[in-house]
Amino acid sequence: MSLLPGSTSIEIVNPAINRGSFGYVLIDFDGTISVIRQGWREIMISMMVDILADLKTGETESDLINLVTGFVDELTGQQTIYQMLRFCEEIRHRDGTPADASIYKQQFHDQLNTHIADRIQGLKSGALLPEDLMLPGTLDLLENLTNRGLELYLASGTDIQYVQIEAELLGVTSYFKGRIFGALDHYQAFSKAGVIQDILQTYAVQGDQLLGFGDGCVEIENVKAVGGTAVGVASDEIRREGVNAWKRDRLMEVGADLIVPEYREQDLLISYLCND
Ligand SMILES: [Mg+2]
Repeated sequence: MSLLPGSTSIEIVNPAINRGSFGYVLIDFDGTISVIRQGWREIMISMMVDILADLKTGETESDLINLVTGFVDELTGQQTIYQMLRFCEEIRHRDGTPADASIYKQQFHDQLNTHIADRIQGLKSGALLPEDLMLPGTLDLLENLTNRGLELYLASGTDIQYVQIEAELLGVTSYFKGRIFGALDHYQAFSKAGVIQDILQTYAVQGDQLLGFGDGCVEIENVKAVGGTAVGVASDEIRREGVNAWKRDRLMEVGADLIVPEYREQDLLISYLCND
C-alpha cells in the first residue's frame, strides 16, 4: 500500500492516473457525503433473509445471508429497485410468488425511515448538526472543488425526493447548482451511467475530464468505464473515521484509483488530483 506523500490516510492504488485535467465531478450521496442512512444495508439484508427463510427451502440462515449480501452489495449504487427486482427473482427461483418489487422497496423504506427518523428530526430541530451526519471534511471538499471551477454532480441510487431533502438538511445543495439526481419511480429514466453520458455529451468532453467519488461499486465502475478517475471512499459510517476494510477491498476490485476513509486530508488529495 502506498500513501500519498505527506498524508496519513490517502492511498494511491493507481499512480498512473492523469492529473490536472478534471472539469466535472460525480459524487455519490449515501456513505460518500451523508451517513443519515447508515444501517440501510443491514436492514435490507435482514428483511430479504426473513422473507426467503419463510419459503422453507432447507437453506440455512447463513446460506441466505451470504446469498442476499452478495447481490445487495453487487448492486449498491444502482437504484434500490434493482436490488428488489433481483430479490423477486430469488423468490421465484425458490418456487415462491413474489409481490411487486415496488412493494418490497416500500417495506424497506418504511423500516429504514423508522431507523433514521431521529436523525432527520434532529437535523430539523437543530439537536443534531449537519457535521454530525456527514463524513468529516465534506464541506471543505465541496468548497475546494467548487473554488477550482469544477462542476459538481450529485447522483444517488436513493429516491430523488429523499436525496433533495437530506442534501438540504446537510447544507450541501448549493454546491450542485441544481445538478442533483436520484432514483425515479420510472426507474429506467435514471442511472449514474446516464448522468455521466449527459455530462460528456452536454460539454462535448472526454471521460478523462471526469472525477468520481463513491463508496459503492457502481459509481466507481461507471466512472472507470469512460476513462475517468475514481476516488473510492472506504468510509466507516459509524465511527466516521478510519477505513472500512470491506469497502476498501470491493472498491479496489472494481478499479478505484485512490482510496480515502473520509476527507480530513481533502486539501492534500485535491492538490494531488489537480496537479498543483
Ligand atoms: Mg453510497
